[in-house]
Amino acid sequence: MDDCTAGGSTTTAAAHFVLVPMMAQGHAIPVTDMARLLAEHGAAQVSLVVTPVNAARMAGFAAGVEETGLPVQLVELPFPAAEFGLPDGCENVDMLPSKDLFSNFLLACGALREPFAARLRQQRPPASCIISDMIHSWAGDIASELGVPWLTDIIYRNNLLENLTDDEIVKVSGFPTPLELPKARCPGTLCVPGLKQISDKIYEAETRSDGRIMNSFQEMESLYIESFERTTGKKIWTIGPMCLCHRDSNAMAARGNKASMDDAKCLQWLDSKKPGSVIFVSFGSLSSTEPQQLVELGLGLEASKKPFIWVIKAGKKFPEVEEWLADGFEERVKDRGMIIRGWAPQMMILWHQAIGGFMTHCGWNSTIEGISAGVPMITWPHCSEQFVNEKLVVDHLKIGVEVGVKGVTQWGTEQKEVKVTRTAVETAVSMLMDEGEVAQEIRMRAKDFGMKARRALEEGGSSYNNIKLLIQEMGNKKCASG
Ligand code: UDP
Repeated sequence: MDDCTAGGSTTTAAAHFVLVPMMAQGHAIPVTDMARLLAEHGAAQVSLVVTPVNAARMAGFAAGVEETGLPVQLVELPFPAAEFGLPDGCENVDMLPSKDLFSNFLLACGALREPFAARLRQQRPPASCIISDMIHSWAGDIASELGVPWLTDIIYRNNLLENLTDDEIVKVSGFPTPLELPKARCPGTLCVPGLKQISDKIYEAETRSDGRIMNSFQEMESLYIESFERTTGKKIWTIGPMCLCHRDSNAMAARGNKASMDDAKCLQWLDSKKPGSVIFVSFGSLSSTEPQQLVELGLGLEASKKPFIWVIKAGKKFPEVEEWLADGFEERVKDRGMIIRGWAPQMMILWHQAIGGFMTHCGWNSTIEGISAGVPMITWPHCSEQFVNEKLVVDHLKIGVEVGVKGVTQWGTEQKEVKVTRTAVETAVSMLMDEGEVAQEIRMRAKDFGMKARRALEEGGSSYNNIKLLIQEMGNKKCASG
């Protein structure tokens, strides 16, 4: 459908969205959700730009969209890993042998610019909108060249923080309610080699973007969204929670990497537990929780006497954790604890009725997934914006309790201190999972936000309407520019 000229009146053209995710699971997974949502809501075409290794990881997603006949295609670009000193096939942040290679990774991503531009010039139907991760700020130049809008995801400026020490208190600007945090817990303080060098370029490019896409929904944080829109002067499209595009456990299980365990076994285990009785512990795709800390966490879970699923990614990196697990722990908790080593089907687990609490590192995806599932949370932020997400969950929405993290654990940095004791873990689990009045109120509020999240994406809901408007607006822009 492209009826721009019909009767001389302005009508909607078919919108073709080109999505360019950052190749890290916490960024790529929500973009696959976005692709699905846009296609389901009427976009004529959605092209998702990936590299071969990432395309292979998205096999479940690709099969799902093919099966449903959605107009989504993966556009594969070769990734120049070796040219930039990366191991062969190292195409995702979670494959980097060390964070010191992060700057090489960014340079290799930057080299996708020309092949990407060449592909877009040939794309039919032509692109009507590019949505990219801010890391790929060059996508903005290509959007200008093609005369199409460029939308980005959210970033935080951190140059306000440059001259402060880690413990200095910062009044975080742009929030409608006061928010004060030590510098080290502020958004934008991720310490990764190479990020600083490109951040100025990113901030500069960002001023030229035509708007932002946010994986959130109005009913949860409208004041914050309005305030952000006012402060930045950019249109914000809230189209989330995007994970809600998955409606059954098979689709949920196929999201992200291939799970390291059998989904059916996991469901069978969950089915055997009482509703709301299990605590799910998972710290995302990249967090580096130190070995000693993992031991404390395990001992706290054991002391809580509650059933749990615990996702551990330390694996080969920390053999001492494996030794400790094997040295009596697993045997002691075998009747009520399931340990998943590697990738877990997080969404499938969170949506199971047996889950009564989610201990999370507060990565944004995990946070919004917990909220959408109506599951109360125990917050254990590690770094960067995770501390602000903790504030949202605990102080603003009041749907969780904090475990009481004292310090910051930077990605890829090994630290020796134990920041959370086993007693703190046990206390937080019982505060959330026991029958007390406070816990019951938290549970009720969490359920309520889960319902609001679902409504936002139902016909007529705020995010549903925004997706429709986005598709319409981008189609019309294409009409206007011919
Ligand atoms: N995830 C998953 N299984 C895992 C680990 C992570 O499905 O074992 C998914 C999780 O559901 C979320 C994403 O990976 O969608 C992680 O993103 P988040 O922003 O929570 O954290 P990050 O990994 O970026 O720190």
